[in-house]
Amino acid sequence: MGLIPEDKIAEIRDRTDIVAVIGEYVTLKRTGVNHKGLCPFHNEKSPSFNVNAQKQFFHCFGCGKSGDVISFVSELEGKSFMETLRELAKRSGIELPEERRSPRDEERARAAESERAKMVRLHELVAKFYREQLSSSAGQAARAYLESRGLDEPTAEKFHVGFAPAGWEALARHLETKKVPVELAERAGLIRRRENGSHFDTFVNRVVYALTSPMGEVIGFGGRVINPEDQPKYKNSPETLLFKKGENLFGLHLAKHAIRRGGRALVVEGNFDVMTLHQVGVDYAVAPQGTAMTAEQVKLLSRFAKEVVLMLDADPAGRAATMKVVHLFVEAELPCRIAQLRAKDGKKQDPDELARKDLPKLQALIDHAQDAVEFYFEQVAATSAPTVPGRVAAIEEVAPLLRTLRDPLARDLYCDKLASLLKVETALVQRALRTAPPERKMRDVQPQPAAVEAAPLRDVAQRRIPLTHYSLLAFLGQHGDYWPRVDASLLKDDAVKTLVASAQEGRTFDAPWLLNACPAEIRDAVAKALSSEEFAGEGDDPARAFEAIVTAIRLPSDLPSLMNERSQAIERGDFELTQKLNARINAVRRSSR
Ligand SMILES: [Zn+2]
Repeated sequence: MGLIPEDKIAEIRDRTDIVAVIGEYVTLKRTGVNHKGLCPFHNEKSPSFNVNAQKQFFHCFGCGKSGDVISFVSELEGKSFMETLRELAKRSGIELPEERRSPRDEERARAAESERAKMVRLHELVAKFYREQLSSSAGQAARAYLESRGLDEPTAEKFHVGFAPAGWEALARHLETKKVPVELAERAGLIRRRENGSHFDTFVNRVVYALTSPMGEVIGFGGRVINPEDQPKYKNSPETLLFKKGENLFGLHLAKHAIRRGGRALVVEGNFDVMTLHQVGVDYAVAPQGTAMTAEQVKLLSRFAKEVVLMLDADPAGRAATMKVVHLFVEAELPCRIAQLRAKDGKKQDPDELARKDLPKLQALIDHAQDAVEFYFEQVAATSAPTVPGRVAAIEEVAPLLRTLRDPLARDLYCDKLASLLKVETALVQRALRTAPPERKMRDVQPQPAAVEAAPLRDVAQRRIPLTHYSLLAFLGQHGDYWPRVDASLLKDDAVKTLVASAQEGRTFDAPWLLNACPAEIRDAVAKALSSEEFAGEGDDPARAFEAIVTAIRLPSDLPSLMNERSQAIERGDFELTQKLNARINAVRRSSR
């Protein structure tokens, strides 16, 4: 890999809007100079993840993770530093030196390229091949199918819709001419090996479309049959390094901005439904890619959406399945509503069909979707017998969901609602909640790995640093040119001393670097100091502020010796020192309160 000069890296970092990039993964709220959100690196309910746009760093006070925009993207996307750098450079329009290499170097670089990057490149190549096949003469039937579904060309292009030819070996042969290693294509699940060692295609005579990561990389394919006799009707790439079932949402890379803007996501069942909805302007629609919603998918959605509307088919997959999904949303504290499509004249309706024939009706369905918990209660109440055993069974079925609600007020209101639906006293429902044996909890709901996954423990306990040292770091955060002037030997706190010394040695004073070099036990304190605006004032004289901080650091920090010094100063008639000591004494008293 050709080395990219340091200043180029700094330029990429400076020209990248860290809040915009991180904002694609985390919903950020502005609080003063910082932005705050739920940490994507650990599970949490209240935001402790901070992004500082001015100093270009992020820091989580929950799990302690910190860094710059490059380390954020590479960590979250599992990409190498170089891959991330190239991507961010492209994004902010910065030219990186083209790596001019001999064929041998080229080969070596390719070998060093991560398996992930190779697979992404392969998928892009294959997506292009499928696109070309769609417009070829062989793609006639596929084009006719897309036309029958009303999918237009711009939408097909956006979703990488293409055609996987019949004949079993079209892709395998194409990859051979492109010199793609067969093992790689096999690992990507795009071709498969026969007993005799030859290869055949995974997708044959199907309309195909790309499955993508939230960043928009092609990570797999889905395909639908053209010939009605072929089976199965829908088929996805097998699980690979890139594609994991139930971890991504179809269409999210296109929908995420609209979801963030409007706060709302629409979840439909079919991938083709998503395409049609985007085509008619419902651009916040996604689909769970052929599985029932998983905890991972709910978590992924919660990074972008404030509320989710689930559009269920006219013949829902059954109460147990609905219960599971509603439970996942309650667990994630992501408000969820349900819009149910009703069968019309005995014919079931698709979101797809409704979007094309009666968009206002679809919009109304979304706008008037019912609260998911209430929806579920109504289903239970409507099907339970109006007898004592019937009511007991109904309350027991709903109890696990009610217990998951963390907000006591919401829980009480839902108890009221359930009681009135079942025509019993609210107190009865509440008592059932308190006394129901815990082992009855969630009999048919499997705990989802992401939901039970605990936050990573901080390996190092965090401590405070002396007020004077904190002021110094806050000052240096605003006035980087003062770093070399600090006399580290004056610093009484060893960890801060180490940090300042290594910063001076490294001659790098930017926040992400400092947090990285920082002794672990004071990282939170340093992140806080660097985010502070205490010394950002324009009118102040930085030289005098610096002088005052250094003097405060020189002064003793325990009250008896401070008082002693003050008496001596008064005796000497050193008025200036007396004043400084007064301020210091007040500060020590304040901080020890
Ligand atoms: Zn965290």
